[in-house]
Amino acid sequence: MASKTDYYEILGLSRSASVAEIKDAYRKLALKHHPDRNKSPEAEGKFKEISEAYAVLSDPNKRRQYDMLGQPGFGQRYSPEDIFRGVDFESILRNSGFDFEDFFSLIFGRRGFRRRIVKGRDMVHDLEISLEEAAEGIEKRIQVRRVEKCETCNGTGASPGTSPRSCPKCNGLGQIQDVTRNRFSMFIRVVPCPKCKGKREIVDSPCRKCRGIGLEERKRRITVKIPVGIDNGYQLRLKGQGENPPEEGIPGDLYVNIHVSPHKYFERVGDNLLYNLEIGFPQAALGTSITVPTLDGETEVKIHRGTRPGDVIKLKGKGMPRLRRHGQGDLMVRVNVSVPKKLTKKQKMLLEELAKEFKQEVDSGGRFKF
Ligand SMILES: [Zn+2]
Ligand SMILES: [Zn+2]
Repeated sequence: MASKTDYYEILGLSRSASVAEIKDAYRKLALKHHPDRNKSPEAEGKFKEISEAYAVLSDPNKRRQYDMLGQPGFGQRYSPEDIFRGVDFESILRNSGFDFEDFFSLIFGRRGFRRRIVKGRDMVHDLEISLEEAAEGIEKRIQVRRVEKCETCNGTGASPGTSPRSCPKCNGLGQIQDVTRNRFSMFIRVVPCPKCKGKREIVDSPCRKCRGIGLEERKRRITVKIPVGIDNGYQLRLKGQGENPPEEGIPGDLYVNIHVSPHKYFERVGDNLLYNLEIGFPQAALGTSITVPTLDGETEVKIHRGTRPGDVIKLKGKGMPRLRRHGQGDLMVRVNVSVPKKLTKKQKMLLEELAKEFKQEVDSGGRFKF
């Protein structure tokens, strides 16, 4: 923001201009170039430029530094924040009809002295849902305790029928400039107003319900929309459903952590579901048809002849719906072949018979081959 031209030139002044002349020149130029009045595209830049020149030349210390170091040296030593710190624009612009807070945001953009937007505390809530609920997408009601505006006084802190008045110390700005001087320098900090504690207002007759705080804790039922296909570990953000801040501002957010409880049949792998199917050796060898569960009922699965343990049968589109996308994953049916631990006499006999029938070969690694 440091301009290349001379501050005296910008204000149309000689190097020996008096303080009164500097103020006068700035006031006139400010009225001319303030973007509220002057709609030309250069107005804002010009207004910043004259304000910067005024900020330096109206301060005897900065002006001396500027005269001594010249533009480049001064620009190296003072940041824009330094240049504008503690400059009294308010008295000079008071009757100009400009909004004083707007003035600083014009100079600094959104940072600088601009009032920070106060946000209430964010809250976190853990929510357990079933796999079916995750697949369907549902609305869940949850209950939270949170700090809200007091209903009796509507957050003002003033007893019903009365209202707070603007703080006289800070003129309702909520903050004041705290100036410390010594022989060499001046420190200026913007601090919360000690009288109203930054609240901008004074309450003479406090609300009895909230004792003038303007807040109360309430139980609330909140509806959470669970999107179709959500997975474990996702966090949903409900904007503005957190707590109210103690002063003027916006409520925080509510974060809902989603926990999908384990399912009795299915294991989720991304958008796919895995189902472990147990069949016997004869079924695996001969092939068969078996009913398996799905998310929305049951379906028949054909087991081919010669199915081996670990073989996977893919049921397309029977998995989880994809989160915020079209389509569904698959249901993977993994076949396990169970081996009985106990046998009846007859079973034993038949199996021995069968074993003889299979001419079992052993490969070079000592493994059976059918
Ligand atoms: Zn109240
Ligand atoms: Zn105050």
